[in-house]
Amino acid sequence: MEDKKHVAIIGGGIAGMESAGILVKFGYKVTVIEKTDKTGGKLRNWSYLFPDFADPNILVDDINNKATLANVNIIYNTEISHIKKQNGRFELSDIKDVKIFSDAVVIASGFKLFDASLKEEYGYGIFDNVITSVDLERIIKAKKVLSTIDNKIPQRVAIIHCVGSRDAKVGNTYCSKVCCITAIKQAIEINKMIPECEVFCFYMDLRLYGSHFDSLYLSAQQQHNIQFIRGRLSEVSEKQDNSLQIKAEDTLSGRPLRMKVDMVVLMVGMEPELSNNNLITDNTVQLDENGFFKSKNIHDHRSCTTHNGIFAAGACLCPMSVSETLENARSVVFEVNDYFEKQKT
Ligand SMILES: Cc1cc2nc3c(=O)[nH]c(=O)nc-3n(C[C@H](O)[C@H](O)[C@H](O)COP(=O)(O)OP(=O)(O)OC[C@H]3O[C@@H](n4cnc5c(N)ncnc54)[C@H](O)[C@@H]3O)c2cc1C
Ligand code: SF4
Repeated sequence: MEDKKHVAIIGGGIAGMESAGILVKFGYKVTVIEKTDKTGGKLRNWSYLFPDFADPNILVDDINNKATLANVNIIYNTEISHIKKQNGRFELSDIKDVKIFSDAVVIASGFKLFDASLKEEYGYGIFDNVITSVDLERIIKAKKVLSTIDNKIPQRVAIIHCVGSRDAKVGNTYCSKVCCITAIKQAIEINKMIPECEVFCFYMDLRLYGSHFDSLYLSAQQQHNIQFIRGRLSEVSEKQDNSLQIKAEDTLSGRPLRMKVDMVVLMVGMEPELSNNNLITDNTVQLDENGFFKSKNIHDHRSCTTHNGIFAAGACLCPMSVSETLENARSVVFEVNDYFEKQKT
C-alpha cells in the first residue's frame, strides 16, 4: 500500500486546526506546528463573538476535539521561519533548526495586531486611560467592569475605528474588515456593564458586510443608545484629572470637534503575522500589496499560494471573520487533495 502523503500545517489557530482535522479524514498524515503552547490562536483572547455573542472557547474546543479525535500530530512551541524544497519534498525549519519534512504545506499563520503606540498622537502607552480593543476584550472576558486608572467608572467612552488600517501614514491602506463590527459589539458590552455610560463610535465609514451585522448596528443604536459620529480623530491629550480631550474632524459637517471623555478605546487593525518574503529559498511564495500571502488566483484558487504545493488558509490571506476563516480552512483541503490527485495522473 502507498505511504500516506504528509501535510505540514504552520499555525494551530482555528484555520490550521480545522483544515488539519478534515485532511486526516481525507486520508492524509497531518502535523500542525504551533509557535505557542496552545492551539486556537487569537480566538482564545476574545470575550464573545460577533454577531451573536457566542462563546469562542466552545468553538475552539469543538475544533480542537475534532482534530484530536482524528489523531492530528501537534508540535508546540515551534515557530517555523523557513521552508526549503528538496527532491519534491518540503523541509520546514525553525530558528533552533528543528526540521519537519512533508509533501505539502498549509500556511495558517493568521495575523498580528497593529501596534497602537505607533500612532503616538492617540496616546496609547502614554495616557493610562487610552486602551485598545484587545485590552477591552481581556477586561470583558475576565468579567471585570471597565474602570479608569484611578478606579472610577467611566461615564463617557470614545471608540475609535480604523487604528492602523486605511492609513497611508502607517503603511496600511487596506481595511481590516472586522473592526467596525467588533467596535459595535464592544460598545454594546460597555453599555451592558455600565448602562449610564455614554459611548461614542468615531468611524470613517461603517463597513458591515456580514450577515446579521446590520441588525447588531441597529440594536446598538436603538437598544443600547450608542452614538455614531462620522469623524476622523486627530489627537488625544490628557487633562490634569486624567480625563482625555479628543480632537477630531466631523467629516459630515466638515467642522472640527472637541470632546472630553474618560476613556478611549482604539480599534486596532490586523496585519500579516508571517510576512516573510524569504520564507522559501527561491522567493516563489509571493505576498500581496498588503503583505498577506498572495493567492495564485483570488477567484477560484484563493487558498493556493504562488508556489505549487504550498497552500494558505485563514487570516494569513487577508483580514477575515471566524466564519470566513473556517470556510477558507475547509476549501484548502480540496486544493491539497487536488494537488495530490494530479500527481497520480
Ligand atoms: C479584536 C478582534 C476581535 C475579533 N472578534 C471576532 C469576533 O467576535 N467574531 C469573528 O467572527 N471574528 C473576530 N475576529 C477575527 C478572528 O480573530 C479571526 O477570524 C481568526 O482569529 C482567524 O484565525 P486564524 O487561525 O486564521 O489566525 P490566528 O487566530 O491568528 O491563528 C494563527 C496561529 O498561527 C500561529 N503561528 C503564527 N505564525 C507561526 C509560525 N511561524 N510558526 C508556527 N505557528 C505560527 C499563531 O501562534 C496562532 O496560534 C476578531 C479580530 C480582532 C482583531
Ligand atoms: S472594518 Fe471599519 S474600523 Fe476596520 S478598517 Fe474597515 S472601516 Fe476601519
